[in-house]
Amino acid sequence: MRQLIQTISNSRESNFYKNIWKNTPLKNGVIDFENTSTIEIGDIIKYKFNKRLYVKNGLFVKIIYHNNIPFLIARTKRDISKDNYGEINYERPLVFFESSHESIEKALWLYNKNILPLMAEDNIDLTEIIAGRYEIDSIIGDVKSITNIISRKTGRFDIKKIKNVTIIDSFFDKNFISILKNYLPSGKIQIILSLPETGPLGLLCKKTDKENLTFHPPKNTIIETSKNGYLIATRLILLPTPIIKYETEIKIRMAKKFCSCKKSNLNFSIQK
Ligand SMILES: [Zn+2]
Repeated sequence: MRQLIQTISNSRESNFYKNIWKNTPLKNGVIDFENTSTIEIGDIIKYKFNKRLYVKNGLFVKIIYHNNIPFLIARTKRDISKDNYGEINYERPLVFFESSHESIEKALWLYNKNILPLMAEDNIDLTEIIAGRYEIDSIIGDVKSITNIISRKTGRFDIKKIKNVTIIDSFFDKNFISILKNYLPSGKIQIILSLPETGPLGLLCKKTDKENLTFHPPKNTIIETSKNGYLIATRLILLPTPIIKYETEIKIRMAKKFCSCKKSNLNFSIQK
């Protein structure tokens, strides 16, 4: 943490965080993480893309929309490989997100693991046909895309062959998991809380409460809550557009106890 803050505050590439932290008191001569200001999506949107870049080479640039306002986020092959989207038990996955930028990013993540995915097409009929021909064994995608493809009854691909489904999204309807289980009774389902601008924020606990979904943050991510209960994320990796104390619009509650799944790390649940 300290090293990341040091690197960013001494960076010659960008002043984005330096401007945000300018009033933060120092602790032993360094910026005190506990007292640094949070940033939010508005700060990212109003600052020009190339002025908030801390890494300038080898970029993969994504367009993200927030309330119809587009903004840019950059990743590198190296930092994408550090994202944790759960266990990888697939050989022939289909990557299917509403945004093609998300599909490309997850395809790069798989490529780093020596897995070449099939990319979905805009045309869902075509996606089904190629998924059948490629004999996909798993799907990685967002709630909407996965719901769309598994609820079709055209028989163009064999749903029984789907062994793993990884859902990466920022919102999960509480009925969604049971709907998914109905379609895929023997498939292994992994649910990852993630925002396009941050990457993964939590992996759904196997012993989650069905009403308030419980997540464990990945090792390289710090999760905190604001006074109003909103999730604040810090990614402990140097992203080209770093995420440090980023206040999201996801309402959570931090658990006071360790989880019953005996994972020793923190956990939090999503609130409505
Ligand atoms: Zn747990």
